[in-house]
Amino acid sequence: MTVIPDVNSRMDLITSVPLLDVGRGNSPLKAEIMSAFSEIIDSGWFVGGPHVKSLEQAVAQVSGADHAVGCASGSEALLLALMAINIEPGDEVICPSFTFFATTSAISRLGATPVFVDIDPKTFNVNPAKLEALITERTKAIIPVHLFGQCCDMDPILKVATDHGLRVIEDCAQSIGASDKGRPAGSMGTIGCFSFYPTKNLGGFGDGGMLTTNDPKVADRLRLLANHGMKPRYYHREVGINSRLDAMQAAVLGIKIKHLADYGIARRRNAMRYRDLMARAGIASIVCPPNESTDCCHVWNQFTIRIPDGKRDQVRERLAAVNVGSEIYYPVPMHQQECFLDVPVALGSLNQTERAAAEVLSLPIFPELTAPEQQYVVDCLARVLADLAIEASRAA
Ligand SMILES: *Cc1c(COP(=O)(O)O)cnc(C)c1O
Repeated sequence: MTVIPDVNSRMDLITSVPLLDVGRGNSPLKAEIMSAFSEIIDSGWFVGGPHVKSLEQAVAQVSGADHAVGCASGSEALLLALMAINIEPGDEVICPSFTFFATTSAISRLGATPVFVDIDPKTFNVNPAKLEALITERTKAIIPVHLFGQCCDMDPILKVATDHGLRVIEDCAQSIGASDKGRPAGSMGTIGCFSFYPTKNLGGFGDGGMLTTNDPKVADRLRLLANHGMKPRYYHREVGINSRLDAMQAAVLGIKIKHLADYGIARRRNAMRYRDLMARAGIASIVCPPNESTDCCHVWNQFTIRIPDGKRDQVRERLAAVNVGSEIYYPVPMHQQECFLDVPVALGSLNQTERAAAEVLSLPIFPELTAPEQQYVVDCLARVLADLAIEASRAA
């Protein structure tokens, strides 16, 4: 049981709050991590091995999937997943434009075409009602991205996939431990893709990733593809890649995954506290604090508000001036990225995506964040919004 302090034990005045402080989560585990590192150094087993195997089992359990396969990053998990379902040039894969680059780049890397679907403004996730119209005879798969820690509304997505014979690859990079109607992220599609980048809910000391699946044949194929398509050693059945998980990363993650449920509880407590503080400060109707959908377990990788009327960047700058960390996930949707400008997009089909990119602002939500720190964040935010409103009325 991790003890995550609920209040700041020091009584000094808060004058700064970082967006993320990984040190607070890692330092209580430092002795345990150092001893695992020491054991690995002595063993000389640095790639794969028992730590990777036991992490695979732990992630399979958290994700409610029968199999889990370690790999080098979340980005490569997505690439390997698409390779394993034989995505090739000419294929179309539907994914949101409001996501991290790696969702889309995995499709392009294989010569296939990303087809962008708009989001639901309430959840920032794929709007299932927009899927059907995008399907052509070339469509092979859908990648629902469980963004910010909340699962997509999976039932209608799975129904469209079944009706049209499409594969579903879940991008679970931000949502390990989340669920939709009791089904964990990574257990609902053909393959789930996870990331252990340090900013994720289960963050390592560098890059790392994992794939989950309920299909033993798919699991074998993923293992083969992640290891040069090689079986046995130096006999290559297909052109795979080198994407393996290091023992050091697996050891750290294996220690941290034991606390994942507690981290999730602390993130949720912080999210509820923000909602409460924002309501009390009278800014909830302006900033639209995020909510948890019915029957979903949200794991709050991000707490993302909206700042309307073109004021978002100004608000962010003013928060930075009073040492409140924030970030824009994501400022430029994929269909407007220089490298994807040749991807065809119907005019007006991504309105909610474009609006979100202009309005979103993510605030500190990490598990060890304290109540006084959250109070400081909300006080600063309320003051900045009030100042901007006064300035706007003077200018009018
Ligand atoms: C982080 C992330 C990835 C990529 O994971 P890496 O481990 O950084 O390669 C993919 N998709 C989403 C939605 C992410 O947030």
